[in-house]
Amino acid sequence: MTSLADLPLRADLVGRTAYGAPQLHVPVTLNVNENTHPVPEDVRADILQRIAVALDEVNRYPDREFTALREALAGYLGHGLVPDQLWAANGSNEVLQHVFQAFGGPGRTLLTFPPTYSMYPNYATTSGTAVVDGRRDDDFRLSPETLVAEITRVGPDIVIVAAPNNPTGTPVGLDTIRAAYDATDGVLIVDEAYAEFMPKDAPSALTLLPGRPRLAVSRTMSKAFAFAGARLGYLAADPAFVDALRLVRLPYHLSAITQAAALGALAHAPLMLRTVDEIRVQRDRMAEGLEALGYRVAPSWTNFLLFDGVDDPKALWQSLVDRGVLIRDLAIPGSLRVSAGTASETDAFLAAMAALTPVGAR
Ligand code: PMP
Repeated sequence: MTSLADLPLRADLVGRTAYGAPQLHVPVTLNVNENTHPVPEDVRADILQRIAVALDEVNRYPDREFTALREALAGYLGHGLVPDQLWAANGSNEVLQHVFQAFGGPGRTLLTFPPTYSMYPNYATTSGTAVVDGRRDDDFRLSPETLVAEITRVGPDIVIVAAPNNPTGTPVGLDTIRAAYDATDGVLIVDEAYAEFMPKDAPSALTLLPGRPRLAVSRTMSKAFAFAGARLGYLAADPAFVDALRLVRLPYHLSAITQAAALGALAHAPLMLRTVDEIRVQRDRMAEGLEALGYRVAPSWTNFLLFDGVDDPKALWQSLVDRGVLIRDLAIPGSLRVSAGTASETDAFLAAMAALTPVGAR
């Protein structure tokens, strides 16, 4: 059988493994920060109707500029954004890949702040961009001083900050984003994949866009919107920044079916987001339950928790799988990550954790 070693693979890809959390079929799946609630019936019917209309013209290429979708995304985000400031692709993964294709590349450097979303170095590697890991403050926080010091040390072409951060749930203050923007002459990407789970009065980096043409704020419909399977991520930035992404996208990258489905979901945004408050409640219940068992839980502004104090994360992860509960082992010493879902998923997770945590062990 042919193996990778037999193929003339690009030298910098040799020895690398493909990204991917295990996709196991177990009753309680809390490993990739999805919204575990299904799309409401009424919205489903409307989306199906819109897809049926799109099928009438599916013999033709879709609107390459996804004009209606950009309008709908600008309307959803608010903050005075106009469609020319919006970009979308098949998940924010593809949006971020476009950013790296346009602004990274050989001779260029990404500054990222682990522990953070593990795809960032991957976009860098596949676009030939060098990666430098920046330092965080205590408790995974990022102060303006630390970020500015790291930018000054590295001189990056791309700085990416997940706000709130994955896998820690840590918020990032707008003072940090402002200071980072002023310190870099590269592009600054604020990844707000989990923005809808932030406290309601917490400001978004979208408010910082005016007058900052090197800043981009990415979002996704995969998390709060319960639309991970539809693959729709997006970004807001200066129109010139968006023009740069047009240079690297493949023609017609967003299918007519995807555009129709996303338009349907956005037309019912409040209904699609109706589970967000409940998910926050479940997240906080999980945190209390884990703390009662003796684990330390990082404060989270997202739909997941990173908990610490696990003697053997790999073994606990496997024991949870054996009990039908799938969470995430990100190889952070002593820690595991769990997504918040429904009340019964919280019950199942906490019951399994209680059974697997020896009494008096902590
Ligand atoms: N950014 C962050 C911080 C994420 O956690 C994820 C998904 N886990 C993504 C981006 C990518 O999500 P998607 O491609 O589904 O939009």
